Amino acid sequence: MPPETNSNSLSAFESLESEVRSYSRSFPVVFGKAAGAILEDEKGSKFIDFLSGAGVLNYGHNDTDLLNGLIKYLQSNGIVHGLDMATSAKREFMERFDAILLRPRGLTYKFQFPGPTGANAVEAALKLARKATGRNTVISFTNGFHGVSLGALAVTGNRYYRDAAGLPLVGVVFMPYDGYFGADQDTSEYLDKVLSDASSGVDLPAAIILETVQGEGGINSASKEWLQSVERLCRKHGILLIVDDIQAGCGRTGSFFSFDFAGLSPDIIVLSKSLSGFGLPLSLLLLKPELDVWQPGEHNGTFRGNNLALVTATAALQKYWTDEKLSQGVLEKGRIISERLRQMAQNSRDHRLSVRGRGMMLGLDCGTGKLAGKIARKAFEGGLIVERCGAEDQVIKLLPPLTIDGETLRRGLDILEISVHQVSKMTS
Ligand code: PLP
Repeated sequence: MPPETNSNSLSAFESLESEVRSYSRSFPVVFGKAAGAILEDEKGSKFIDFLSGAGVLNYGHNDTDLLNGLIKYLQSNGIVHGLDMATSAKREFMERFDAILLRPRGLTYKFQFPGPTGANAVEAALKLARKATGRNTVISFTNGFHGVSLGALAVTGNRYYRDAAGLPLVGVVFMPYDGYFGADQDTSEYLDKVLSDASSGVDLPAAIILETVQGEGGINSASKEWLQSVERLCRKHGILLIVDDIQAGCGRTGSFFSFDFAGLSPDIIVLSKSLSGFGLPLSLLLLKPELDVWQPGEHNGTFRGNNLALVTATAALQKYWTDEKLSQGVLEKGRIISERLRQMAQNSRDHRLSVRGRGMMLGLDCGTGKLAGKIARKAFEGGLIVERCGAEDQVIKLLPPLTIDGETLRRGLDILEISVHQVSKMTS
């Protein structure tokens, strides 16, 4: 007989689960249910979710239409697992994605389904770029985060994660991201200079990999001009441009791809997190057809192209991306959130607070991890789930579901405001 469990008791997690667990430490209750923007613990306490599975739940928890479609598919004996065999669910997804998102943008890509995690998609992108160009190195940026498997970790900046590799992380050169030296220095000029100078010591890389808004790195958003300069210099030097849209993509910044506002045409796009729309694991590489130099099965994995996730992903495209409603809502709610954050920063006695980000990918930079930690803990006590990010965990990251209703959004922001106020009163 298993031991009886106490509602909300974390003892099983403390005794049985590895020390590597993280979110269960920040939010120490046992969650049982969720719907929309609300998570509920085993005791029935409700929390407003501004974390959204770290960007996985852009359409909220258990979207009813996606759920019903999934149940119908399962009840019809639809294929659940099929390795990377051709299935009706995969065909439907590729055809709808092409018709709804790619063709209207004049984009032509081939689809590659790697293993279902973001990190595996990044691994595949890096391998493909090296194979297609015959070059070894990749350029990544300060504060970039691309996952924690060895290849993805090599292009991730944060020392905390890098130190856990246990092996040298090679084949990457880090360059300063937009704004790294402050607003008045264009770091793309430096990048162009070292790539143009045959004596700079920087080899011509296979690819440049970037996030248009760095999620884990602290909600650092690159400007349109900087992104366009990086794309231009990729073309000039024959370097592939990989956009990691795992966190910033799928509508988070207002349009489906986070680079739409800059009109980029990346050679490889990496998507995961909210792609299935339902929290089911699914990753995708979009690659320019001429880069498709793979041999069959060269990058493989048992769980490529999760059919259940493909079913919900297709339903999400159909529901949210065939008109402008969701996009407009994201821009409107993004303005409301950033305005409220600006007021919180202004009214706070702590003048280190500032606002960062774009669309509904926003952050309140608290200057120190200690202050941000206190505010996030207070917010949790008040019924709001928010995560921290940045090199020192100094930024409170706000990723509410894009579909959150106005009233719940306002309540969540009220809790955050009260928390900022209470903590800054205690520390001043
Ligand atoms: N790339 C970006 C931009 C991410 O934010 C993440 C995860 O947070 C990853 C890659 C890694 O994805 P996964 O955790 O699914 O391996």
